[in-house]
Formats: sequence, structure tokens, C-alpha cells
Amino acid sequence: MTQSAPFLITLVELQRQTDALKQLHESQRVLSELQAKNREALAFFDQMLAAKAERIDEAQLFISEKHQEIAESEEVLRRSRAKMNTVQSQRELTALNKELDANRKTASIRSEELKKLEAGLEEARAAYNQRKQERDELADECAKLEAEKQKEIAEQEAQGAANTALVERLRQSLDKALLARFDRIAKARDGQAVANINPHGTCSACNIALPPQVFNRIQAGETVEYCSNCQRILISFDLVEQTKALENQ
Ligand SMILES: [Zn+2]
Repeated sequence: MTQSAPFLITLVELQRQTDALKQLHESQRVLSELQAKNREALAFFDQMLAAKAERIDEAQLFISEKHQEIAESEEVLRRSRAKMNTVQSQRELTALNKELDANRKTASIRSEELKKLEAGLEEARAAYNQRKQERDELADECAKLEAEKQKEIAEQEAQGAANTALVERLRQSLDKALLARFDRIAKARDGQAVANINPHGTCSACNIALPPQVFNRIQAGETVEYCSNCQRILISFDLVEQTKALENQ
């Protein structure tokens, strides 16, 4: 069985490490986007809650003013009733009854107003609590999503931290010209310098059909071959896996 040359295995491994680092950067970008979006959504809720809290404060203020007015009405009524004992004539009695009626009416109107204010306060509190609950649920959901992403990043970072040394080893073991070519292609091709071949003889990156002799050389795994279309280094990943499996036996 043919085995792939060691530098091909190194190239595939170097590509894997490059992909892993790219993935880490992508995850970090997604996380910061998510955090910004979550902050914005929560700030919107907080603004709404602040407005509702203000309405509650306002309602409470109106209610305490109304209590004050009611206490005043009761005092006025009490004084009117006290005058009953000093009434001297029918005319005075009629006038006093009129006064009492008016005062009772004022007291009753104020009581009604108080009831309405209290109902309003209840409503404002219910609306606040509803939004507060929604806000807390959203905050939980945001935290959960961020934690998931952070966990993913931590795993990728742990992997990456261990792999910096590996990447350096891989790079040093490569021929300088080949490494320079790898870096040049990676830079031009969004980090992907190495491509696999498809079983039916095409480049897995750009899908162009490979000349049979090139395909055969790649499957022999002894030379560095390039895609004539996308310029990537073409390697049979299957062959690399088989070689590694053999080495591990
Ligand atoms: Zn290609």
C-alpha cells in the first residue's frame, strides 16, 4: 500500500489547526455580536420598566393627595355636624342641611376618585410586573445563549492554547518554500491552502475536474500537487488518514 509523504500529513494537520483558529475567531465574533444584541434588547426593556415605575410613583402620589383631601372633607363634615347643636332657627337648619349635603357630596366624589386611582395603581403594578417577568426571562435566555457560546470558545481556546506549540512544530518541519507557498495560498484563499480531492476526481474546494495524471499523483501521495484553477495544495485526505492509521499500529 502507498503511504503519503510526511510533509503531506504535516500540511493537512497545519490546515486543521488553521481552520480551528479561524473557527475560534468566528465564535468570538458571534459572541460579541450576541452580547451587543442582548444588551440592546435588555436596555429597551429597562427603559420601558423605568417608564412604568414612574407611572406607579405618580399614581401613589395622587393617591396620597386624595387621602389628604378626604381627611379634609371629613373634618369639614365633622364641623358641620357639630353646628347642629347650635342651630336656632328653621332657616339656619335648612342652610346647615344644604351645607351638609354639599359636604357629603364632596366626600363621596373624593372617595370615588380614590377608588379609581387605586384601580389605576393596581393596573400599573400589574403591567410593571408583567414586563419585569418578561425582562427577567429574556435576561435568563440571553445569559444562557452567551454561556453556551462562551463554553464553546473556552473549549476552542483550550484546544488552541495546546496547539500553538504544535503549529510551530509543524511549520518548522516543513520546507521553507513550501511553507511560504502554504501561507501565500492561505492568505489569498480565506485561510484554506489545502484542499481534499473528491473520489470522482475533482478539487473539493473549487470542484474543477483534475487531469487523470494529476489525480493519480495525488493518490500516490508522493508529490505536492496544486489545483490549476484555485491554486490550492491538493491532498488525498483518505490517504493521509490511512497513513496515520498505519503509523499508529
Ligand atoms: Zn481547486
